[in-house]
Amino acid sequence: MQGIPLLTPQGLARSMCDDLDLAPPFSARLFADAVERRYDLRIAMEPWPSGEYTTGWCNARDSAYTIYYYAGGSVVQRERIQFHELCHILMGHLSGRQPPVVMRGESGSDDREKTVEQVAQALVAYSMLGDSPAERRTRESVPLSAYGQFIDSLLDR
Ligand SMILES: [Zn+2]
Repeated sequence: MQGIPLLTPQGLARSMCDDLDLAPPFSARLFADAVERRYDLRIAMEPWPSGEYTTGWCNARDSAYTIYYYAGGSVVQRERIQFHELCHILMGHLSGRQPPVVMRGESGSDDREKTVEQVAQALVAYSMLGDSPAERRTRESVPLSAYGQFIDSLLDR
């Protein structure tokens, strides 16, 4: 297979966007809108008022998710936090009704954080820049089922 390799955060970010029928440029909010449509979920995103944390977290209740994000940084930082939490939702890391993106092979929360952060970074880049022209010419869609292999490759097993 040519283009972006299968087992990379970039490949997975793109497979998510393909699955969501979403083409760049898009914001984290537009990505969340697409996840809501695709999986019949509700995703609210609220600034986290305390200022005590500079990241984000997500609350899940049935099919309704609320992402709280640190709003004191730059727009880029905010987008990154929101994409990170959206990846947790898509990868089924939260309680509540999960999207049917079935993941396997994650053995702990450290693995999750590492994976989510890599995929979130790739999503931010893809949301802003899309594919390079060379990648666009050779690109093939990556199945979401590749995710398990990706985790295995990250964990070197
Ligand atoms: Zn996280």
